Amino acid sequence: MMRQTYDTIIIGGGIAGLTAALRLKEQGLSVKLVEASGRVGGVLRTMHRDGFLAESGPNSILETHEEVTRLIDDIGLADERIYASDTARNRFVVRNNTLVALPMSLGSFVSTPLFSSSAKLRLLAEPFIRRVDPRTEESVADFVRRRIGQEFLDYAIDPFVSGVYAGRPENLSVKYAFPGLVRIEERYGSLIAGQILGARERRRRAEKTKRTARMFTFVDGLARLPEAIASKLGSIVRTGLTIGRIEYRSGVWQVADLDEKEAWTARSVIFAAGIRDPNLLRDLVPDFESLAAVKYPPLSVVSLGFRREDVAHALNGFGVLVPSVENRSILGALFSSTLFRGRAPEGCVLITTFVGGARQPELARREDADIRRLVLKDLTALLGVSSAPVFEHLVRWRASIPQYEVGYGRVHAAIDAAEKAHEGLYFTGNYRDGISVPDTIKHATETAARVSKMLLRSAAMEPATAQTSALAADRATAPAGTPAPDPAAKPAAGVPLP
Ligand SMILES: Cc1cc2nc3c(=O)[nH]c(=O)nc-3n(C[C@H](O)[C@H](O)[C@H](O)COP(=O)(O)OP(=O)(O)OC[C@H]3O[C@@H](n4cnc5c(N)ncnc54)[C@H](O)[C@@H]3O)c2cc1C
Repeated sequence: MMRQTYDTIIIGGGIAGLTAALRLKEQGLSVKLVEASGRVGGVLRTMHRDGFLAESGPNSILETHEEVTRLIDDIGLADERIYASDTARNRFVVRNNTLVALPMSLGSFVSTPLFSSSAKLRLLAEPFIRRVDPRTEESVADFVRRRIGQEFLDYAIDPFVSGVYAGRPENLSVKYAFPGLVRIEERYGSLIAGQILGARERRRRAEKTKRTARMFTFVDGLARLPEAIASKLGSIVRTGLTIGRIEYRSGVWQVADLDEKEAWTARSVIFAAGIRDPNLLRDLVPDFESLAAVKYPPLSVVSLGFRREDVAHALNGFGVLVPSVENRSILGALFSSTLFRGRAPEGCVLITTFVGGARQPELARREDADIRRLVLKDLTALLGVSSAPVFEHLVRWRASIPQYEVGYGRVHAAIDAAEKAHEGLYFTGNYRDGISVPDTIKHATETAARVSKMLLRSAAMEPATAQTSALAADRATAPAGTPAPDPAAKPAAGVPLP
């Protein structure tokens, strides 16, 4: 049964869909957001039990973009935000079965046992290494090996890539997964020169980078973010309904659930549902195969609570990453109760461990008891765990994080072509311009601005009809860009794992 025609229907209630919905609602636009599962937030999920607070998805957010800070202010969550402890600046990497602190200064770099003397000397050659032909798209592994050598790939970049993407450096594209590195090479001809000169420039511009931005969560965990946005959206959000059809017919977009029991019409559609199962887009995206080929490796997240005295390691840092060459079962572990206060009851600690990813996908699919055994074996060897956990929580992500593999440009091109071919169809989410929560929020904010601009432009051009939306009726005579009539409306929104 058809109902009113909305200005925008948003498919997917993860952080991308929710952010876009909020920004469009503020513009006075009529919006509907449909989410398949029974709750909003997508992979942002927090659980509380027995005094422990465990995150199943992201554990922390970096304050890299002003869109994130503004979103938190606008939904009234600023007072609930808590920042990572200073101790979390320390990060560990496993070498020869031992946790070694990542060097944070030149002095500690020279003396660290994490890299051999020959690997350190090899760095001196880095400024003299030539760029490759800019038309060549290198994997992260090829890029790093070429510039700084195999050992830095093995003990710095490989664990970092599995920590951020649950991915493998051999598969990921340096251009799409770490565009900043490519930009530094293009601009300065050297990563080392770029680090030194770029840092000076960034300081001058007071720019925040992933290394300098502050890391935060909320007192009650990251799920507070989608919850607070959803409560601002009210009845706009519809959960528990999977969209099975999107098509443009008779001058409007039509969207229906899988059983065709509910349907809506809209002047625009924002697809914010991820591309894990992109079948819904088969007739809308010209090069659909490129989307269908994007890999999302499985990942199991195991949160374990221990009595403090049952873990020998001081847990004095953010966590530990495990390089592939160390041949262990876990990708890494976050020292969650060191990172943020209130994650474990008095006298206990919480450790969040990641298993599987693109490195060992088969491990993430093992039985719960098997995964638990593998994790405890590694934690015993690496952190000196000496007793059974007092708290356990395991979450499986069948399809965790989109892999920006070599050739990912085809995915961008396919989506751009689909947006161009179908006026009113937009795509946002972590498969577009960065997989982190802040990058996803930024992209969704920008997408909302593009949608509202398009709607205002077409509303100014079209005469209002019974079929057109509240906005079109309100704005039929207003020039594009006229502020929304809603007195509460605001101007268009200006427009890592361990
Ligand atoms: C385990 C893990 C740890 C992470 N850690 C961090 C971290 O520490 N810091 C960080 O910044 N980032 C982290 N990330 C990445 C970040 O959390 C995600 O990239 C981001 O939250 C994705 O948001 P999204 O809205 O694009 O997608 P999703 O969260 O995947 O949301 C998509 C939504 O669409 C819904 N949907 C799908 N199909 C349909 C349909 N047909 N109809 C209706 N609804 C549909 C889904 O149910 C889902 O709710 C992590 C990710 C994972 C998985």
